Amino acid sequence: MIKTDILIVGGGPAGLVTAVTARKNNPDKKITLVREYEKCVVPCGLPYIFNRLPAVEKDLMPDKAYEANKIDLIIGVAVKIETANKKVNLKNGEEINYEKLILATGSSPAMIPIKGAELNGVYQIKKDIKYLENLREEIIKAKDIVIIGGGFIGVELAEELSAIKNKNISVVEILDHCLIANFDAEFALAGEKKIKDKGVKLYLKTAVEEIVGKDKVEKVKLNSGEEISADLVIMAVGARPNIKLAEEAGIKIIEKGGIKVDEFMRTNIPDIFAAGDCAETKNFFTGKNSLVMLASVACYEARIAGANLYRGEKDLIKNNGTVAAFSTYLDGLVLGAAGLNETAANEENIKIAVGQSEAPNRHPGTLPNTGIIKVKLIFEESSKVLLGGQIAGPENAAEMINLIAVAVQQKMTAVELANLQVATHPLITAAPTAYLIIKAAEMVL
Ligand SMILES: Cc1cc2nc3c(=O)[nH]c(=O)nc-3n(C[C@H](O)[C@H](O)[C@H](O)COP(=O)(O)OP(=O)(O)OC[C@H]3O[C@@H](n4cnc5c(N)ncnc54)[C@H](O)[C@@H]3O)c2cc1C
Repeated sequence: MIKTDILIVGGGPAGLVTAVTARKNNPDKKITLVREYEKCVVPCGLPYIFNRLPAVEKDLMPDKAYEANKIDLIIGVAVKIETANKKVNLKNGEEINYEKLILATGSSPAMIPIKGAELNGVYQIKKDIKYLENLREEIIKAKDIVIIGGGFIGVELAEELSAIKNKNISVVEILDHCLIANFDAEFALAGEKKIKDKGVKLYLKTAVEEIVGKDKVEKVKLNSGEEISADLVIMAVGARPNIKLAEEAGIKIIEKGGIKVDEFMRTNIPDIFAAGDCAETKNFFTGKNSLVMLASVACYEARIAGANLYRGEKDLIKNNGTVAAFSTYLDGLVLGAAGLNETAANEENIKIAVGQSEAPNRHPGTLPNTGIIKVKLIFEESSKVLLGGQIAGPENAAEMINLIAVAVQQKMTAVELANLQVATHPLITAAPTAYLIIKAAEMVL
């Protein structure tokens, strides 16, 4: 029997950040982390292991933080939690006694239950190096590749694969547009255009009815009646939280499937916390629970969980809800979103005022390689408090969405944003006279 003060299950972003934060807050505690795989991939880097990176092993999370923070690493699978005895059992028979337990078991790719989904040649984006190495080899050999799902993972994959010569890449998306679950239409369409221009064939408002083949996938049948040839199918249809371990231990699970946590990342069982994709998120504005699965959100929650383990009630750090700041990058175009977009605000029946601006990303705009940045800000109509924003533009627009995310978290108003103090430089930002967030805020005033 191993004894530890703090036990973390899961070695993805949430597990790592919980462990490091727990160490900063508890210099003298024994900290142990159990993870399934010998090596862990950088999950957000996975779309890029097929072309930009020369091998899967170039996309690994470094382990040096474990050593540097004196965190004991155990490679194994936790199969049972005995909450009454404060004990976790591993698959290999080992038992670990804990004082505080954090579940950071993450998520697994979802699968749509259609005929043919079990055929050879149907893949998902799993966080498993061997599986991905095999997928990489199959992608190199394949000619016709069909991606099911045009969310951010589907389009990032499509863009990456479209840069490899002699491949026909198709994306089948059931909604009106790719990326439309994350962005308002004008931003989603800008992303969609980027992959279309790269030669990716889009099947929108279309569902896959069946994957057809004898031993191996040969084609994909759509609900339009059309059939697409396929040597390889990649399902990019979302993710499901890994909750089995928690559920079997009697830890509460929300209806949508994540581990129920309070605002301090505590589960319903004393001394057991959860963070990352396996845990529920609560919307920053509405407080409604949901499952936002982003590495940035996972790390935010992990910092809170890791800091709260031994704190007294009045010193606890609070999770104020998920702003869901998010960005993607498609062939030179950055798209970013934070907080509520126009569609989401309308769905919540919130009266809004919309401010928009557009300006060159350098000044003067005659400088070489100048592109256009677009900003859209959504304010609550009467208070003019910022509810959310979206950006589109060249690479130097990327950090702008993080500035907007901070403004959302701080509940800044249009007046405050119109009087923002910012740094500008001709080669790296928009002009001070046309700074996009300021201009969009001025528009609603
Ligand atoms: C292709 C792709 C691209 C993405 N791009 C982005 C992006 O650009 N930006 C962004 O913010 N997010 C992105 N995400 C989402 C992001 O990867 C996840 O939100 C993040 O990985 C969540 O971290 P986590 O630690 O909670 O879970 P995970 O990364 O899923 O890690 C959980 C770990 O726990 C292990 N584990 C589970 N159960 C057990 C057990 N019983 N015993 C031992 N170990 C166990 C798992 O094997 C896994 O290694 C992307 C995801 C994918 C798949």
